[in-house]
Amino acid sequence: MLVRSYKITRILPCIADPEKIRVIAEVSDEIHEVFPYLNAIVKGCIYNHPALTLTIRNEEKLITLHSKYITLTLIEDEKEAHGILTWLKDLINETYQKKDQIEPNYSSGDSLKPSDIQKLLPGTNCKECGMRSCLAFAFKLVDEKIGIEKCRPLFTDQFKEKRTVLLETLKNAGLKVPSGLIESQIDERGENGRSLPKDV
Ligand code: SF4
Repeated sequence: MLVRSYKITRILPCIADPEKIRVIAEVSDEIHEVFPYLNAIVKGCIYNHPALTLTIRNEEKLITLHSKYITLTLIEDEKEAHGILTWLKDLINETYQKKDQIEPNYSSGDSLKPSDIQKLLPGTNCKECGMRSCLAFAFKLVDEKIGIEKCRPLFTDQFKEKRTVLLETLKNAGLKVPSGLIESQIDERGENGRSLPKDV
């Protein structure tokens, strides 16, 4: 067993959607050893080996595993957070137990595709960024030949939810994102949050 327990340490309002929450949970043990194995078996992971983070996208929810804590974004309520964290704890332990039978995947290259990014852009093909379509913009973004801030419609209220997920996805994939644009960094410093310890 790699991880014995988790503890929810913070529940924060989700900036993108006030009806949802962002949850930070500490884990009892360091879990980064299992990331390359999870990266090999869980579809659509984004693994950042130098930063030791692994991001799993589940529909619109964003689950980011760090070595000693896990963040959950766009979560309905505490009950849903516990459901996801319990599933993760089991997944981590089962994967760790079977790791000798899994070829570890240390790459992040093929995990963030332009089509993944396109889904999180406004999708209007308005050309305000200077590109002929959102997909063309997504290709340039993956190649780091254009900055996310060039998509001005993304920074309107209408696309708050997509923006939160996209910025965190880019950050976790190791792509450059101007620090002032990362809304979740405020949360991780603990500002605006409330502590809610809960042993499980
Ligand atoms: S500005 Fe944004 S919404 Fe408009 S085409 Fe470019 S990427 Fe798409």
